[in-house]
Amino acid sequence: MPELPEVEVVRAGLARHVLGTTVTAIDVLHPRAVRRDPRGTAGFADALQGRTLEAARRRGKYLWLALDSGDALLGHLGMSGQLLLQHPGTADERHLRVRFLLEGSGGAVEMRFVDQRMFGGLLVSAGGAVLPPEIAHIARDPLDTEFDDDLFVDRVRRRVSGVKRQLLDQTLISGIGNIYADEALWRAGIHGERPGTRLTKRQVADLLRHAREVMTAALGEGGTSFDALYVDVNGESGYFDRSLHAYGREGLPCDRCGAPIRRVAFMNRSSYSCPRCQPVPRRIGRRSVADPGTRPH
Ligand SMILES: [Zn+2]
Repeated sequence: MPELPEVEVVRAGLARHVLGTTVTAIDVLHPRAVRRDPRGTAGFADALQGRTLEAARRRGKYLWLALDSGDALLGHLGMSGQLLLQHPGTADERHLRVRFLLEGSGGAVEMRFVDQRMFGGLLVSAGGAVLPPEIAHIARDPLDTEFDDDLFVDRVRRRVSGVKRQLLDQTLISGIGNIYADEALWRAGIHGERPGTRLTKRQVADLLRHAREVMTAALGEGGTSFDALYVDVNGESGYFDRSLHAYGREGLPCDRCGAPIRRVAFMNRSSYSCPRCQPVPRRIGRRSVADPGTRPH
């Protein structure tokens, strides 16, 4: 699943290659890819025909291309989505869903939305050039220069819910997926079920710094694949092979202390952590969350 750094790599690549081009043809090969557009498939194409792409923006894992009409082409890559830039005439990808022909001073290029599982999708957001209303509720991400660190620390510490759950809450902080959450928690030596109310300011600030470092490192790794005319996101960059300390390492020795990494079920997925570096918090049962007043101090 593409995480935020990969989505940022795609955004940066689009910014480099498609701004100033005009959409001259739209070919929706599978209507499911545009199912969230209220205009339907034909309306989606009509709203894009002849429009010029003016900016490539991102909020969390959503990205959009601002159109000269004031609308936006808004996309989410879901579990398996890719946006590719190809020379016209290049053979179709097996799971090609939408094809855009873009023409500009540098010639023509095809922007292709390829998505095997189709949890992702595209739509035209009315008036969404600056910030699509569909995603206005999503918080900024830690790589956003306008992210407010102090506000984030305060909000986490006011909530009793587990800190990993908070890291994944897109209304609090966006763009941190399961992998980066586990890695940031491992680096900070914090168990994901620690209630926000039991963390110090410094611990939350540390956790945020680690999340930012993990994401920035991944961004650096992914950033190099872009100089070719090819925008690729598949969540399997080399970064994941080389740099993970917790995620996906069940039973392997912790890189810090040697204890075997443990895996537990978490929100239909898995959480990986070190049993020694990230001790399970005491008294985090259902009862103490539901009835915090009775907890002994
Ligand atoms: Zn350890």
